Amino acid sequence: MSENIVGIDLGTTNSEVAIVRDGRVEVIPVAGEIRILPSVVGLASDGALLVGESARNQYVLHPERSVRSIKRRMGENSPVTMAGKDYSPQEISAMILRRLRDIAEAHLGGPVNKAVITVPAYFSDAQRQATREAGEIAGLEVVRIINEPTAAALAYESSHAGSRKALVYDLGGGTFDVSVVNLEADVVEVLASHGNNHLGGDDFDQKIVAFALEHLKHEHGIDASQSPLAMARLLRAAETAKIALSDQPYVTLAEEYLLEQNGVPVHLSVEISRLDYEAMIEPYIAETLEAVHTALSGAHLTVSEIDEILLVGGATRTPLVQRRLEEDLGVQPRAEVDPDLCVAMGAAIQAGVIAGAQTPTVLVDVTPYTFGTSAIGDLDGAPYPYCFVPLIRKNTPIPVSKSEAFYTVFDGQTRVDINVYQGEDRDALNDIEIGRFTIDGLRDAPAGNAVITTFSLDVNGILQVTSREKDTGLAHSITIDNAITRFADEKLIAARARIDVLFGERADEKAAAGTDEDGGGADGRRLRVEAAALIEKAERALATAGAEDAEDLVDGIEALKEGLANPEADLKPALDALADLLYYLDT
Ligand code: AMP
Repeated sequence: MSENIVGIDLGTTNSEVAIVRDGRVEVIPVAGEIRILPSVVGLASDGALLVGESARNQYVLHPERSVRSIKRRMGENSPVTMAGKDYSPQEISAMILRRLRDIAEAHLGGPVNKAVITVPAYFSDAQRQATREAGEIAGLEVVRIINEPTAAALAYESSHAGSRKALVYDLGGGTFDVSVVNLEADVVEVLASHGNNHLGGDDFDQKIVAFALEHLKHEHGIDASQSPLAMARLLRAAETAKIALSDQPYVTLAEEYLLEQNGVPVHLSVEISRLDYEAMIEPYIAETLEAVHTALSGAHLTVSEIDEILLVGGATRTPLVQRRLEEDLGVQPRAEVDPDLCVAMGAAIQAGVIAGAQTPTVLVDVTPYTFGTSAIGDLDGAPYPYCFVPLIRKNTPIPVSKSEAFYTVFDGQTRVDINVYQGEDRDALNDIEIGRFTIDGLRDAPAGNAVITTFSLDVNGILQVTSREKDTGLAHSITIDNAITRFADEKLIAARARIDVLFGERADEKAAAGTDEDGGGADGRRLRVEAAALIEKAERALATAGAEDAEDLVDGIEALKEGLANPEADLKPALDALADLLYYLDT
């Protein structure tokens, strides 16, 4: 059996320990299922040493007996005071490392004396040396110090052939780093690095806290910032809300009995939309993008020379971060390795190589396909009813659940059709439709009534799609059992589905007759699909229409069907006529 050499991500906010065992990378749980140890150290009132969650909890009420973010002080000579006693930054870091070592030993059932520890690419020699010393104080021989972006690159592709340039975008709780790396065989070289030591997800939390304070002031005329306990509760609630907003379009920040005012309890309950939240954090994201460009010019590379973007750090789960990076660099960022654990995993891979273990690949279950729905939007500068809205992007680890809000488009709209697609094309009609349903009976409201659609994909490829009217909770859902496996022979099925959509039930006849499948290019194709959809709708309307209306509908349907049958025909007049009729009948 090879020697236990662990990989440690000694982070500003959180730390993790991992090891390669039996060809797999394992991030070792620190408590129950939790694999993240807050990088906080404290001394309890009885003198007991606290490391991790308990120290983090103590910090709120007794900051003088607790130390956090010690990483920022590494390499400094001045001491850090905790409970009235001075410690060197190395000693405080050693307490975190020692705890991780104990956890690893208990988990592995044997001694752990060696470690690979990661540091930011910009760390100076003094900071690296201090990290090494911290390891030694904790009883660990630091067999190698590696750069965090290097570790991330190792976790993403430990055995990738060929040479690539990657941008490692690392947004943690309190720090932001971006590095440009060159990946060549097994060698990862950091070409340039940039960042901000005081920017991260914690700032996002602060924005939500400020929003809540403003709300309390406005609603109750009360200044909650004067109460440390209320502030501590708000901060925790803000982080929870922020995390929820990564997957949901709305969240309610609710804290009962937050404060008292003249003996009367004050409850907080305020809704935040993702849109509002994104506006709050946009300046921070813009700042990170500036840093990205600085790093690129430092590496003498242009945007187009970047092959991939690797996401590291919990705050990169924020959809705005991923969206803005993709818009700015034109590459969809990779997020398939857990961004909180990615650096520790890379450190473990490096440790495994040193210990002589076989280099593993990080196996994660991801969806190979993108799933989404369609909505009215803008396609190439024109309004278009079938714009594809991806909810679950390909390479997202599963299980996953994502929600988006959609809004009714006209006053009094009581039903919405939800089409479920798999694909990548911005025009949903070029993607594969894998299901559809209707949510009917929405309340009579002006346009803009929110319907929240949730896609949940489990490890077995079962996709559940639910739409819920936000104000009433009225919901409808479908389950697509084989959302992933059904595409085993993807190309064939994609082609078949596309043709089915294009030609409706007449696909076979047309194919037999050798008709041009494009039916007059993209516009013609769209008209045909619209016509097929309209016919379907009209046929549904027939069920409830009065005798006279039914006659008109049948005529309209016939006319449009005739048009569809003749590839030379101009569909537009028949299509408009039937659309007008349906509009008139208010279906
Ligand atoms: P790290 O320092 O890499 O562990 O990142 C921690 C930061 O990521 C904290 O600010 C967390 O609140 C934040 N974070 C964790 N999960 C999410 C999420 N799903 N969406 C947004 N931020 C998150």
